[in-house]
Amino acid sequence: MNVTIFGTGYVGLVTGACLAEMGNHVVCVDIDAGKVARLEQGDIPIYEPGLEPIVARNHANGQLAFTTDPAPAIAHGQVVFIAVGTPPDEDGSADLQYVLSVAKTIGQHMDRYTVVVNKSTVPVGTADRVREAIAAELAARGATIAFDVVSNPEFLKEGDAVADCLRPDRIVVGSSSARAVDVLRKLYAPFNRNHDRMVVMDERSAELTKYAANAMLATKISFMNEIANIAERVGADVELVRHGIGADPRIGYHFIYPGAGYGGSCFPKDVQALERTARGVGYQARLLGAVEAVNHDQKTKLFELISRHFDGQLKGKTIALWGLAFKPNTDDMREAPSRRLIEALWQAGATVRAFDPEAREEAQRIYGERDDLVLCGQPHDALKGADVLAIVTEWKLFRSPDFAAIRAALKEPAIFDGRNLYEPSTVEEAGLAYYGIGRGRSL
Ligand code: NAD
Repeated sequence: MNVTIFGTGYVGLVTGACLAEMGNHVVCVDIDAGKVARLEQGDIPIYEPGLEPIVARNHANGQLAFTTDPAPAIAHGQVVFIAVGTPPDEDGSADLQYVLSVAKTIGQHMDRYTVVVNKSTVPVGTADRVREAIAAELAARGATIAFDVVSNPEFLKEGDAVADCLRPDRIVVGSSSARAVDVLRKLYAPFNRNHDRMVVMDERSAELTKYAANAMLATKISFMNEIANIAERVGADVELVRHGIGADPRIGYHFIYPGAGYGGSCFPKDVQALERTARGVGYQARLLGAVEAVNHDQKTKLFELISRHFDGQLKGKTIALWGLAFKPNTDDMREAPSRRLIEALWQAGATVRAFDPEAREEAQRIYGERDDLVLCGQPHDALKGADVLAIVTEWKLFRSPDFAAIRAALKEPAIFDGRNLYEPSTVEEAGLAYYGIGRGRSL
């Protein structure tokens, strides 16, 4: 099939590459000329495991092309995906300007029946707004061309995006058009061979499904962080509690890790946007508000522990930081807990020496050159001249460190383990002080 994708970010590029891999002819459009130029050169602007060879292979064999020019791209696609950003507006609701601008462009250039598929995470009712925007452009140029708008929210996880795209848990398709559903069934057939993973519903339910999924996952995290905060006050170890509750199949072990708070480009904005949607229809979503509030506070947790360790005297201290990305296997630092920690440490007069396997360039882009931030090429470099070590991202590389070497490198051997990677006794036996999240003795 001929497919066009607007947006070459995490969602658009991965979707485009995976659809090309299945033999479709895919054109990816982005307004960011720099990004398109890099992609043309075979340089992938994001870090996503397994993505580079798929993009390279399909670009080389002509299945995957990149452009900034929407007109020929729209003429190319029988199916046109919208996969552009929906960042939070000032009031927390989703900013639809990019989605609606693409809809307008599609209406300006469409010349035959087209299935317009929205993959961006958008508030309920957006499919109608996209439909109206396209229809208005068609009417303005006196064209009568049939089209359908489908809501097809994306559930891929950064860090696992290629695997998620090639082997999705489910493919949610929101459409009231049998013709459009049929087109998507054909497009997704290669991803759907062993089990029918397509869940077909109306557009509004599909739009809400995406928010409900992210809100549920964020709720699990905030719930566990709340339990961790109780655990540390009552002298319990939340890691034991986690095992104890995860064994119940109704609860399960997934996504119940306490830590330094959730970040990324999705959970924070989607929980907020859903809460604003609810408010807009006269319902106060109290649970969602609490999920957000717990997470907001949790992101300051490591700073509070470090500050307390130094009796609030952080001026002149150097903190080694392992992990900048909001989670492992990505370079994405949007809403990352590391940022709140770094900025709080700076405010208190400390210097940060940070290491991350993939997010160094992104940190450099965000913060530029500064005396109070040293971006290191190796975990051990970050320890040089540092007082203590804080861990914010659970990269595998950090799981079994040489504690003796850490102890030798630090001026005041202490680890602030924002992801509960280590057994407190192991760290303490190596001669370091240990602070974790909800481990019964951090207060
Ligand atoms: P992103 O910020 O990485 O990429 C968006 C891209 O769209 C950018 O390259 C931008 O230049 C481009 N763009 C903006 N306006 C454009 C236009 N008019 N024409 C062409 N390109 C345009 O975003 P992302 O992380 O890929 O997320 C995209 C959407 O998917 C969001 O709604 C997000 O909530 C949702 N989503 C993201 C993830 C994820 O893990 N990142 C997962 C599921 C859903």
